[in-house]
Amino acid sequence: MEKIVIVGAGVAGINAATKLVDNNYQGKITIIDMGKDPYNRKPEEVMTGFLGAGGWSDGKLTYHTSIGGQLSKYCGEEKAMDLMNQVITNFKRFHPNPEEVQCSDPQEEPDFIKPYFGLRLFPVYHVGTDYLSEIAKNWYNFLVENGVEFVWENKVTNIDFKENYLSHTEVNGNGDWTQKYDLLIFGVGKSGIDFGKKLAEKYDLKTEPKAVQIGVRFEAPQKHFQKLIDISYDFKLYRKFEDKGVSLRSFCTNNNAAYVAAEHTYGDYSYNGHAKKDEAYRNDMTNFGILMEIQGIDKPFDWSREAVKKLQVNGKGMFFSPSHRVPSKTSEGDYVKVEVVPSMDILYYALGDYAFYIEDFIEDMKEVFPTLGEDWGIYIPEVKYLSPEPLVNYDNLSLTKYDNVHFVGDALSARGITVSGAQAIYVVESLL
Ligand SMILES: Cc1cc2nc3c(=O)[nH]c(=O)nc-3n(C[C@H](O)[C@H](O)[C@H](O)COP(=O)(O)OP(=O)(O)OC[C@H]3O[C@@H](n4cnc5c(N)ncnc54)[C@H](O)[C@@H]3O)c2cc1C
Repeated sequence: MEKIVIVGAGVAGINAATKLVDNNYQGKITIIDMGKDPYNRKPEEVMTGFLGAGGWSDGKLTYHTSIGGQLSKYCGEEKAMDLMNQVITNFKRFHPNPEEVQCSDPQEEPDFIKPYFGLRLFPVYHVGTDYLSEIAKNWYNFLVENGVEFVWENKVTNIDFKENYLSHTEVNGNGDWTQKYDLLIFGVGKSGIDFGKKLAEKYDLKTEPKAVQIGVRFEAPQKHFQKLIDISYDFKLYRKFEDKGVSLRSFCTNNNAAYVAAEHTYGDYSYNGHAKKDEAYRNDMTNFGILMEIQGIDKPFDWSREAVKKLQVNGKGMFFSPSHRVPSKTSEGDYVKVEVVPSMDILYYALGDYAFYIEDFIEDMKEVFPTLGEDWGIYIPEVKYLSPEPLVNYDNLSLTKYDNVHFVGDALSARGITVSGAQAIYVVESLL
């Protein structure tokens, strides 16, 4: 039987291993991750460890092919929906109280948001950050009991695609190791984006271009948005300016016990959000990204990095509120790390005229949600670094140059939990 090594114990890696175990795969399965197992992983370790960035996320499981990255491009609509359903089923399966997973499923666009915005209509299952750690422990125990080997706190530093082996280093600096593999599943997520890029350059992998995705994380008291939240928990307001190659959408909405989280990528700060289920954490706040997708920018990855760099002050991102709201606290009780700035001008400095679209989005929200007024703040920036997507065979997501190396999750083209997990299950189905 072939030895499968999975790099990254994130959403994709864990769903891949689960599919292998469920199908009684007899070969050795090893997962290497630079983070920790779910018993030892701390809340501030946002990006690494069991379930990866999904482990301390908000656990919103979207069930539609129009968001969360590209899936139907590889396998078609019907198969994509089946694969995403398998991921959702896995989250419920290891949930201590699966009946508490709520589903929001808006059926039509409410009149009051028109003509300013459209609303994307699709189901979203909401798990909540606090339950995720319980799910992670149950899931981890299942995989260990079924013979999956985990190598924690080890960073993979090199992969030899030609000789089929990889090198990894203990993060505490105690040792360097190598592993041979027959099949490799590469699921390093956002935290491994630099590594993926390095490999793509080293092996001269062909890539598909990506659009820029950048914006801000908007935060306000929930009461202003309640009318829409009642219709759709994770509401996706959107608008398009096709002639300009720009579209905007609200992204990853958190409510009830909603917290803003700082992300660190390439040493820079950007922002995201999550929500807890436990009533003890209720703060009656709402936060969501206002993300702008810009087509046609030359070298979009470099452009995004440059823009994010311009949006750092004193080694942090920024916060602006027209009514002098103060930045919120994290769910751990510390203030979110930001520098308060007096205006939105800095956005124009970093994004040029594109900043106008974000300001305009906020202005129109004030029309649609009349009580909002100036009662809000924005954390700057929020960014989705979409590294150039390596060219893969669409039937099994293997590299066109190395057919025993499969790219999955955010390291490929995903931007969310269900799509990341679904891509990994798709790969395993092709192997089986
Ligand atoms: C705060 C936050 C909230 C989010 N909320 C949601 C949400 O509600 N819904 C949603 O759909 N998506 C959400 N997301 C996005 C979602 O978590 C990711 O899309 C998803 O986790 C990607 O899965 P993945 O397996 O590709 O990568 P990840 O889950 O990021 O896992 C990658 C793993 O690879 C490991 N790794 C990286 N490089 C190396 C290396 N060199 N060696 C060894 N290990 C390595 C990391 O330690 C990590 O554990 C959120 C993200 C964040 C940060």
